[in-house]
Amino acid sequence: MATRPFFSAGVWTEGRGMPLESRNPATGDVIEVLSSASAEDLDEAVRAARQAVAAPSWADLAPHLRARMLHKMGELIDRDRERLAHVQMVDNGKTLAECRALLESAANTFRYYAAACETMEGTVPPSRGAYLNIAVDVPVGVVGAITPWNSPATLEAQKLAPILAAGNAVILKPSEVTPLIGLEYASLAREAGFPGGIVSVLTGGIELGRAMVSHPGIDMISFTGGTAGGRHIAAEAARQLKPVVLELGGKSPHIVCADADLEKAANAVAMGIFSGAGQSCVAGSRIFIEKRIASAFTATLVGIARSLRLGSPADPGTHLGPLVSFAHRDTVHAHVSRAVAAGANLLTGGALPTDEKLAAGAYYPPTLLNGLSNRSDIAQQEVFGPVGVILTFENDEDLIAQANDSAFGLAAGLWTRDIERAWKIATRLQTGTLWLNSYKNLSISTPFQGHKQSGLGREKGLDGLRQYLQSKAIFWPA
Ligand code: NAD
Repeated sequence: MATRPFFSAGVWTEGRGMPLESRNPATGDVIEVLSSASAEDLDEAVRAARQAVAAPSWADLAPHLRARMLHKMGELIDRDRERLAHVQMVDNGKTLAECRALLESAANTFRYYAAACETMEGTVPPSRGAYLNIAVDVPVGVVGAITPWNSPATLEAQKLAPILAAGNAVILKPSEVTPLIGLEYASLAREAGFPGGIVSVLTGGIELGRAMVSHPGIDMISFTGGTAGGRHIAAEAARQLKPVVLELGGKSPHIVCADADLEKAANAVAMGIFSGAGQSCVAGSRIFIEKRIASAFTATLVGIARSLRLGSPADPGTHLGPLVSFAHRDTVHAHVSRAVAAGANLLTGGALPTDEKLAAGAYYPPTLLNGLSNRSDIAQQEVFGPVGVILTFENDEDLIAQANDSAFGLAAGLWTRDIERAWKIATRLQTGTLWLNSYKNLSISTPFQGHKQSGLGREKGLDGLRQYLQSKAIFWPA
């Protein structure tokens, strides 16, 4: 049976690895069988990338001309948005409305980095002798980009755009669970005019990812995924002194103080954990409620959770589509079952749907638990599903101690009308992003970084471009 090829060295290539299946999690149907890259296939892609990145057709291309290709990528994504949104939906299970929004954001990401690559400047530091010295930024070379399954349309744009804007070649390995958007981006990159070898998209699993990290011809790795994978990559990269960017997991506190606008807060807390069926690195999965309002606020949250509609991602009335795969659905359910066995109260959800249509897909209902402490496994481990753990706090000291008692430090939300209190809590939370009286506002122009075990390095913003450049100082004698 023919398998869908991947894009390597400027051509569509049948790989020599074990084929992969892409499944629609809403139905369980196989959408496509894809070819995957072996170690030899990777060697070929790396050889082509090294040649292409050094060739005058790319290396001598002025940034404003690279920017044209990035702008073109934005236009092509806009042109194909509806089709790409369907591809993303059947591969990943996200609702069509969310997929459309992700693709709009992806197109804007290419435009943002097109502008940034035209306007980045080097420096001329004050000379301390009879010379002129300048510091220019030069590309790192060949960057390996490895992505997860939860939002491929945006996460892959967030890697491709700055890596290319910085003048590098890129070899992207999308998640083996959701490889289809990456292949679409390869096709658009070819149409946008990127020379052969500058953008390769290789499909494959963890073995291919490991081979990329240890490949001596790949100069840098940019990884988004789980903390366990990030740890392995950091260890292997350390052996080779290879730079890495790691965007990892989270267990974000979403905090509601008694003086907050409780109606707005309840809707935002529910959206923070249930949007994208909870499969978001910044999901507000630890819900901290000030003790004196805990019982009423919990009842409101349970009411909202019960009102959310689980269903086909194509249906405009759906709030939560299926989880990305049956295997992941089982992992999420196992987390909940262990929490219940450890004494948690199941407030809502926590059971596989029995409705015939939903039972055919990898659906999991909005789930809320309480009765366990912040030290429990369910409050410490990333579940990556629609599962919120409700915790309470007595006062701000107690809150800060609990909220910071986590291996992760990706994001946090805080609801209060008291600006002094907001300032005191916000400055003491160990987190890369904090949303005050809001949740999940994300912007391509604002750097995004995980603290503690949520990551190393940063994406988005100008910092997200700079990390794919290295500085070169040139001294000219007078
Ligand atoms: P994962 O770590 O299992 O896999 C991510 C990618 O890395 C896949 O392409 C996989 O094949 C590859 N991979 C896994 N282990 C590897 C290794 N040792 N060496 C090389 N490649 C390896 O993650 P996932 O289950 O696909 O995604 C969910 C995780 O991603 C969650 O933990 C989530 O929080 C995290 N995430 C983080 C961010 C962020 O910006 N911080 C964004 C989205 C998702």
